[in-house]
Amino acid sequence: MKKGFCKVCGMAINEKNFAINNNALPEVNSEEHLLYCPFCGAHKRYFCEDRDEIYTTVGVKLTDEELKILDHATKLEIFNGDFYMEASRRAVKEENKLMFKELGNIEYIHAKVHMKIAGIKEKPELRKIDYSRLKNDEDFIREANTREKHAVSFYNKGVVNSENSIVKEVLKAFMEIEEDHIHMTE
Ligand SMILES: [Zn+2]
Repeated sequence: MKKGFCKVCGMAINEKNFAINNNALPEVNSEEHLLYCPFCGAHKRYFCEDRDEIYTTVGVKLTDEELKILDHATKLEIFNGDFYMEASRRAVKEENKLMFKELGNIEYIHAKVHMKIAGIKEKPELRKIDYSRLKNDEDFIREANTREKHAVSFYNKGVVNSENSIVKEVLKAFMEIEEDHIHMTE
């Protein structure tokens, strides 16, 4: 397979890692058929061959509004990542455990990308949420679907309210991925 990078999360994609989050992609990646970044879920049009094409905001001054969006986005992704890890621990069906865990991995990568482009150094600590109202796999799937819909509308507004082309592109890429997650949790 052709090696390359994901412009959005910056990870190198190769024959050893292309399948690591296959349980959290709308269609599985294979060596011949690489559709999504295995780390952040970005669609293949965000792949690049050269490290220099990876999105960066080094030396760029972002607006206060952009920094606010990225701060909120970091927290939203960690919040959802934590939720998916809890869902993975508590799910009964093995396929759901796997899907939740890998969705969580992907959301945590999104948080890292936001931190990188906004220059946020410390991972925010969020308060523990009590999920005892969720009783079974179906409850967690329903909750996941609600969260993903919220994330899509958040990113949609973020794209509109940001000016920097890289910020816009990252938010757009993640909006698409959260749309994929809506379909996967329907
Ligand atoms: Zn990626």
